[in-house]
Amino acid sequence: MSVANIGIIGGGIGGVAAAVALHQVGIDAVVYERAPRLREVGVGMMLWPNATRVLRDLGLLEQVLARSGPNTHFLVRARGGEVLMNIALGDFDVPAICARRADLLAVLIAALPPESVRLGRELHHFEQVGDKVRVFFAGGVVKEHDAVIGADGIRSRVRSELFGVADPIYRGYTIWRGMASYDGSAARSGANSETWGAGHRFGILNTGHDRFTWYATANVAANYPDAPCGRKGELRRMFASWHAPIPELIEATDEAAILKNGAYDLAPLRRWGDRLVTLLGDAAHPCTPNLGQGGGLALEDALVLAKCLEKGTSLEAALRRYESLRCHRTAHMQQRARLMGQVGQWENRVFVGVRQAVTSVLPARLFEHNLRRVYSYQT
Ligand SMILES: Cc1cc2nc3c(=O)[nH]c(=O)nc-3n(C[C@H](O)[C@H](O)[C@H](O)COP(=O)(O)OP(=O)(O)OC[C@H]3O[C@@H](n4cnc5c(N)ncnc54)[C@H](O)[C@@H]3O)c2cc1C
Repeated sequence: MSVANIGIIGGGIGGVAAAVALHQVGIDAVVYERAPRLREVGVGMMLWPNATRVLRDLGLLEQVLARSGPNTHFLVRARGGEVLMNIALGDFDVPAICARRADLLAVLIAALPPESVRLGRELHHFEQVGDKVRVFFAGGVVKEHDAVIGADGIRSRVRSELFGVADPIYRGYTIWRGMASYDGSAARSGANSETWGAGHRFGILNTGHDRFTWYATANVAANYPDAPCGRKGELRRMFASWHAPIPELIEATDEAAILKNGAYDLAPLRRWGDRLVTLLGDAAHPCTPNLGQGGGLALEDALVLAKCLEKGTSLEAALRRYESLRCHRTAHMQQRARLMGQVGQWENRVFVGVRQAVTSVLPARLFEHNLRRVYSYQT
């Protein structure tokens, strides 16, 4: 298998991590990215122990740790600030952290030979001819590979080519994100948190170096336009009476850097691939962001794929083995994330009251036990 030459479509976290993992086991891989440069947004993302374990195995954890914030506890709070549940993340071999997405991508890119990334290459279609995959890019460029990995995100062209177009499903709410420098004591507890209100949530993630990534949700129509008062003005209004430091964090954020994304996913796919082509990351298993696991799952995919290709006797069998090892876990996480989002976005006052009462009496160890299974995953 060491002679294989793999084409990866998409230079997000999943595609670049896959190229790093493949290079590390001696397999040539080229990333094709449609954008003129590889880039990620500046806000933070949670990397739970299942994700940081992959980074450790790739030899990159220390570099990411140096630029991130630790997470030992996760608090669920009511909008007045009272703690409904305090979930200890437990002792793992690796930490849970919040890292800036751009920092994570930069560390991954630096681990790749520069010639293994081709920018401005937008996949148009591919053909499987004999034991090769011929890849056609916009503008007429054609390349040939032994296998192709579609790591081209939630609106994957590779997936559409394999199985037909399936538009991502909007789940009824939108997420705003930002990052602010903030040194107030209320955010310095060492614990990250998510605060629940009726139809809204607000999360705070310590991203290290006195920076806090936050996210806010609201039940609105798909493609909900910005309010005339701007994103910051709208969030200021939505969260004005929420506990500290929520209004302060919104205030401390640069309006132009506030991101806004709808919550989209797809039902788990029955198949991920065909012959010498497979999918990875959001292309294979797009999740709503409620567990903060989409990027972590893409990192897991990358390592499992590399291990299967390193050990496999034929490319095709190795790709099918990778899919069979990954599909149950990722389908479970897609479904769980969707359910978390549904419950988290309840706006009926009775349901919200019951949710709050139940959360405050349920033992945190129930969640800790459950999360331990998610975080303990070994590739
Ligand atoms: C609001 C929000 C918060 C989130 N928070 C977290 C979190 O805390 N932790 C976490 O782990 N995950 C989180 N996620 C999920 C995470 O962002 C994704 O799961 C992850 O980025 C997926 O990476 P990917 O490489 O599979 O896809 P993408 O990042 O979408 O990358 C796909 C790449 O393919 C390229 N591409 C697309 N089409 C083509 C084509 N035809 N030809 C060539 N290139 C193409 C794109 O330009 C892009 O660069 C969050 C998601 C959202 C929306």
